[in-house]
Amino acid sequence: MYFEFQQLIEDRESTREIYNCPIQQVMNQHQKLQHWLRLNKMVNIPIYSIVVLTNPKCFIKEVKGDRNFIRSKLMRSSRFNIFFEDLTTSVSNEVLMDSETNHLAKLFGQHHTPQILNIYERHDISQQTISHGVICHDCQYFFTLYSPNSTCPTCSRPPEIPHSSKHF
Ligand SMILES: [Zn+2]
Repeated sequence: MYFEFQQLIEDRESTREIYNCPIQQVMNQHQKLQHWLRLNKMVNIPIYSIVVLTNPKCFIKEVKGDRNFIRSKLMRSSRFNIFFEDLTTSVSNEVLMDSETNHLAKLFGQHHTPQILNIYERHDISQQTISHGVICHDCQYFFTLYSPNSTCPTCSRPPEIPHSSKHF
């Protein structure tokens, strides 16, 4: 992976993909949130923005541009917990009173616009190719879950169901 000003270049064996720079995207979101907070008269709320690389195999080969700035905005997911803990201990002064926090939470709820995604179109797959079921964590067998008490037909282990939902 190469970070350059305004773009991210990902080289895989024989292909090259160019994306919008995630740091620039997060900075845009930062500005939009700041603007929205100002419009709603919620000022002086510190906003911390960071890009977290979730793929542990991702290797950053080169950083072009303001290296210190780019490095300060970029981290691996393994470091995120430490970053978050440091952040919560370093911010000691209370910015919002409880009533303001509740007001802000209410505003977020009122102004939220759900993103409606056509997941089939986005990943260029047809609905017929999707099967509902779970993958057994022990033997990797894929099976349909008929009831919450279903067990894997090959190893008889109960499946691990993500987010307590019955199906995905
Ligand atoms: Zn199994």
